Amino acid sequence: MIIFLVITIVPLVFHFSTIMTSIKTYFQEDRESQLLDAANILAGYISKNNYFEKMDDSTRWQLMDSEIYEKSKEGGFRVLVFDNRLYCVNDTNYMHAGKTISVPEVVHALTKGNTVRTYQERKTTYASASIVNSNSDVVGAVLLVSSVDDIFMSVAEIQSRLIMYTALTSVIMGFLVLVFSQFLIDPLKNVLSVVQKMSEGHLEQRIHLTSHDEYAKLGRAFNEMAEKLEKVDRTRAEFVSNVSHELKTPLSSMKVLSESILFQDDVPVEYYREFLQDINSEVDRLTSIVKDLLQLVKLDQREIEMNVQMVSLNKMISEIVKRLAPLAEQNGIELACDVTREVYAEVDESKMASAISNLVDNAIKYTPDKGKVKVGLDADHQNAFVTVQDTGIGISEEDQSKVFDRFYRVDKTRDRETGGTGLGLSITHATMLLHNGSIKLTSKENEGSSFVLRIPIHHSGT
Ligand code: ADP
Repeated sequence: MIIFLVITIVPLVFHFSTIMTSIKTYFQEDRESQLLDAANILAGYISKNNYFEKMDDSTRWQLMDSEIYEKSKEGGFRVLVFDNRLYCVNDTNYMHAGKTISVPEVVHALTKGNTVRTYQERKTTYASASIVNSNSDVVGAVLLVSSVDDIFMSVAEIQSRLIMYTALTSVIMGFLVLVFSQFLIDPLKNVLSVVQKMSEGHLEQRIHLTSHDEYAKLGRAFNEMAEKLEKVDRTRAEFVSNVSHELKTPLSSMKVLSESILFQDDVPVEYYREFLQDINSEVDRLTSIVKDLLQLVKLDQREIEMNVQMVSLNKMISEIVKRLAPLAEQNGIELACDVTREVYAEVDESKMASAISNLVDNAIKYTPDKGKVKVGLDADHQNAFVTVQDTGIGISEEDQSKVFDRFYRVDKTRDRETGGTGLGLSITHATMLLHNGSIKLTSKENEGSSFVLRIPIHHSGT
């Protein structure tokens, strides 16, 4: 508010004082030039009548009476006539007649030429013009004295009016500024109170949008941020609950298995063996969940150490395909590698290999007998593209956006059979983010899926 007031009122006061000075100067200069003109005319009139040479005192007085007094009355100024020895021969006020007095303007007129000057403190203007004889010699000077009180009064009146207007304008401005600053500040207060509540943990707080200006944009951006924050919070809670649930399931079956042999007498050895095998496979499952979780948690820490090297993606893919070929064969799936050109990229080899492996592994897992899985590699100037395509069960459109969520599995029962943890695609996704790349999925149910990894050839760090 103070800033607004300074911005609006300071220029107003500045303009006000400039206007006042200009008005005063204008009136004063006008009056001075009028007075000097009158002095000139009178001096000319006196010269023409050979005032100093031919006339005697009584004729002079007569002349003064008849003409000069008239002019003095008309113009509202006092007239004094001096000879060239500063002797005042006539004064329409009579006061100085017959005296020798030195008035600076008269001295100036006698020696240097006509002059005019306003004395502020006395509020009077003095104009003096020289009187010349027929030989052009300066024989005297005429001095006109006029009060400028009227000017000062007019200026004072204008000034008081301007002060009044300025004060009135300032009050109106102040009021407007007050209203306007409230208008500016209120939405900010609203934002502030929401931020404070959010920092106390109430993440469900939102800003109420009431306008369509910059504040609304800020509010919208803030609300979006709050939504993301809330989602992160929700995801975290879901994640913890999912982890607990995923760990609980194998633990519960282990408990059931172990108790069923513990609390039975005379259990045959084959039972022991069978149950222990089941317990062993649950332990394997637990181990793989914990392994995946640890990997994911590591990938989540953005400051994770990246061992980035220029790696041949062809070689990496060939090795993955070779390693997974027995699994594909076991499931009756044709696993092909469609790599036609050499592609190198700066990646963390082991992380990237496990990301691609997850995709190929999934493609094999979710493709029925006699299906096909194809791994392709291509590149442009900036990116390498790894495609893993299968003719498997596909993923419904609704599930496509969720499969990258942690522990998300389309068909829980079936996936437990396949031994999946629901973390594979999350790991691949996190790895792509770490490499500043991306993952894209296109799929049609019962026709197959295709995952495309975009890997920047030059790693730029995160
Ligand atoms: P999982 O360890 O269960 O395979 P992922 O995170 O790798 O977990 O995959 C998540 C889910 O996405 C899987 O449970 C599966 O339902 C689905 N999915 C992943 N890949 C494919 C695929 N190639 N074809 C069909 N469904 C798939």
